[in-house]
Amino acid sequence: MKSSYKKMSFLSIITFVGVLLLQAFWIMDSYTERQAHFKEHIHNVLDEVSKDYCQSQTKIHSSDTAIYEKERMDSILNLKLIQIQELSNYQFEIADQNSKRNIKLEKKKYFHFTEDLKCANGYNKTLHLYILNDKSYFISSILSWVILSSLLIIISIVALFYNLSFLRQQKKMAQIKSDFISNMTHELKTPIATISVASEMLMNDKVIDDRKKANRYATIIHEENLRLKKLVNRVMQIALFENGTMRISIKELDVHKYIEQSVKAIKMIIDKREGQINTQLEAQSSIYQLDPSHFRNIITNLMENAIKYSKGKPEISISTVDYSEGILISIEDKGIGIEKKYIDKIFNQFFRVETGNVHNTKGFGLGLYYVRRIVEAHGGTIKVYSTIGEGSRFEIYFPRL
Ligand code: ADP
Repeated sequence: MKSSYKKMSFLSIITFVGVLLLQAFWIMDSYTERQAHFKEHIHNVLDEVSKDYCQSQTKIHSSDTAIYEKERMDSILNLKLIQIQELSNYQFEIADQNSKRNIKLEKKKYFHFTEDLKCANGYNKTLHLYILNDKSYFISSILSWVILSSLLIIISIVALFYNLSFLRQQKKMAQIKSDFISNMTHELKTPIATISVASEMLMNDKVIDDRKKANRYATIIHEENLRLKKLVNRVMQIALFENGTMRISIKELDVHKYIEQSVKAIKMIIDKREGQINTQLEAQSSIYQLDPSHFRNIITNLMENAIKYSKGKPEISISTVDYSEGILISIEDKGIGIEKKYIDKIFNQFFRVETGNVHNTKGFGLGLYYVRRIVEAHGGTIKVYSTIGEGSRFEIYFPRL
């Protein structure tokens, strides 16, 4: 996956450099082609100019030819060249063949055209015409094509970057999923091994006869089994989301009552770590239309996280207030906090803050994803405020339906 991504990026860059070079060559080619076309056109015009000039020659007295030649040529050129878009910027001179020219112009800036003026009356001179090499004139004639092709190139660059970033995301997802599987196997292994050992002990006749010991091993099996059930439940909840079959069944319930029950259930773990949990349930009305089991799950998930991500003695506060036609439930801890750059990501599926060691604090990166999905399914929102090293506050808002 990694190498194919690299290969694709490399190939894309090569393709784009190729396309850009091609575009540059094409622009240059079109430019010189336009110039060549222009020169050819001027040569044709000069043929006509020469004919017109000779015709005008016959109308005047032979001694005046030299006097009026510039004026005559000017009016003929004016007439002919004006037909070619805005070609006012030209100079000319009529010189005897092989004689030196008076006009000296920078070669790069002007095109130099010559036309023999050989008339029937024996007049034989050369017309030197200098037309400004107006780059903007040539560029403007290919501009629409340049813009169109550049636009297409930009669109394909954007599409390619979009594809590459999608591929990158897929790669990241695959990595996260493989981490998840490794974490889950790790978490499943422990209860399975413990159950295996405890049940083997129970099979021992000596242990069976000792009621106290047997009871202890049975309790271990029961507790570990509950742990397994919880793990499987968590994964199943998320799998249900993915299949789109998850349903919430809303009932009228007392939010305060459910919070108090969840606090009671978790109190044991907090006491074990000599921590504290405070409740300030101040919402005037706490009767809401919610799914009871999912609601209990999300409160438990947030409290478990508050404990899990607190070093030493956890200090947790839970409060409720009436807020904007609904209720705001806050769960606050004085734990490790969350870095700003991760704040927006923690509600994503499988996202865990990298701690260096994936097994440092156990988890799958599914808890907050589940919480967010459930809250949103109830039409609510979830927000987090956190300062690294100081703690976090998760706020859930449920509207009154
Ligand atoms: P898990 O706890 O299984 O890793 P979650 O979805 O519950 O998954 O949380 C995602 C991440 O958010 C966690 O890995 C953790 O880094 C961070 N997090 C969640 N809750 C807290 C909290 N109360 N304090 C600090 N970090 C937290």
